[in-house]
Amino acid sequence: MSKLFIDGAWHAPIGRETLPVYSPADGQVYAEIGRGQAEDIDLAVKAARRAYEGEWGRYSATERGRLLVRIGNKVLEHIDELAGIEARDTGKPLALARKDIEALARYFEFYGGAADKVHGQVIPYLPGYSVNVVREAYGVVAHIIPWNYPAQMLGRTIGPALAMGNASVVKPAEDACMTSLRVAELAVEAGLPAGALNIVTGLGREAGAALAEHPDINLITFTGSPGVGVQVQQAAAVNHVKCVLELGGKSPQVVFEDADLEKAVPIIVGAIIQNAGQTCSAGSRLLIQRSVLDEVLAKVAARFSEMRVGAPDASPDCGPIITRAQFERVKAFIAECDASGLPLAAEGKADSGLPTNGWYVKPRLYGPVPRDHRLAKDEVFGPVLAALPFDDEDDAVRLANGTEYGLVAAIWTENGARQQRLARRLVGGQVFINCYGAGGGVELPFGGVRKSGHGREKGFLALEEFSVTKTVVSHHG
Ligand code: NAD
Repeated sequence: MSKLFIDGAWHAPIGRETLPVYSPADGQVYAEIGRGQAEDIDLAVKAARRAYEGEWGRYSATERGRLLVRIGNKVLEHIDELAGIEARDTGKPLALARKDIEALARYFEFYGGAADKVHGQVIPYLPGYSVNVVREAYGVVAHIIPWNYPAQMLGRTIGPALAMGNASVVKPAEDACMTSLRVAELAVEAGLPAGALNIVTGLGREAGAALAEHPDINLITFTGSPGVGVQVQQAAAVNHVKCVLELGGKSPQVVFEDADLEKAVPIIVGAIIQNAGQTCSAGSRLLIQRSVLDEVLAKVAARFSEMRVGAPDASPDCGPIITRAQFERVKAFIAECDASGLPLAAEGKADSGLPTNGWYVKPRLYGPVPRDHRLAKDEVFGPVLAALPFDDEDDAVRLANGTEYGLVAAIWTENGARQQRLARRLVGGQVFINCYGAGGGVELPFGGVRKSGHGREKGFLALEEFSVTKTVVSHHG
């Protein structure tokens, strides 16, 4: 698939160049994608603008909603095919890829159902005036998405954008873009007018930067690393464009001495193992009240040791790392932890006969980790969990809030008053009490504060992010 999807059709990149696509399972090249450049981005933005000002822009909210539901149905009709594409492209276990495709369909269903339920306001003003606040599309939206949940990210970002009547230009990650390309084709088959959704593959520093800098973009959404998030936001600032950023986290699971460990332990382990730890909201810090440190660490370690890393079609707990660059980063981080003498509390298992060139990392649990160690603060974006002790509630809050991030937090305690106190004191966009939802919940508003980013996606709030109000004041005497 070495073409770009622009204006409802396949186009070879203007520069005619391609990029190799690697399978994380064995490190081999298995396909090519188009290496889109600034000229291709410009074509896509122009196509989106024409769609927004043309047929697509004239769709009623009801028509947009129906169309999104039809796209969701198309996705479900092709679930086996799409899950296979996603698993091959990302290396994630087939069962997880299938869940991701279900979530993709769910985004279209949810935002299809919501499209005609966004109402404006009527404001009481001076006598003789009527004031209506209406919500409108921004126009052309740029979506730069990462490689960890490519299918889900696509639905999460274009679902609300299209529901509100925007036209979209998507730059998927060069390491995982196959599903986006196929979904764009299915969307047009479902009836989406040409130009409403365009997909330009290519490198971040080329196609991604060109999209972020394009002067005819009205809104940018970006999910990825904090460093690139800054660059995208700078580009948006030059063009005076709003920017929604989701940049990862170092999310704490706070376990008190009265926690129900039977319930907590499998969820705590799952929240870091899922997608080989490559989840922005992975529960990557395990904070344990000191009085139960040994017991909790032992229980989590026992389960951790059972976790298997394996090939996507072998139903492993953990697949390979999605990109070679990320594999190298995770390995380097682990080497640094080991070199610094961090106690390794548990290590998962590797399936026998793994392809030698695949990007497999055995899950690792370290603990107790000193508070000033890099593993206690920085995101690994791999299957590595850091366990740290705390003394009391105040100490737990200090520790939980003590990183530069603020995305998700979880509290494990049976004490109802403590649950509510902590929910208010913990920094982040989501707090889970006796449960955890790494990456899940189409209905649940999601997003960060601090270095985790800003703006909200998912749920109804995303419809507000992807639209802008206009206040219409009428004097009639
Ligand atoms: P990245 O930020 O470089 O890539 C994310 C997206 O941005 C991709 O589509 C990429 O092509 C694009 N991009 C890259 N440079 C760009 C630029 N200059 N202008 C515009 N777009 C650009 O992420 P990465 O290097 O692939 O991963 C690095 C780290 O990012 C990981 O270790 C992890 O910590 C973090 N990450 C976070 C998430 C998340 O969900 N928050 C997802 C993926 C990666």
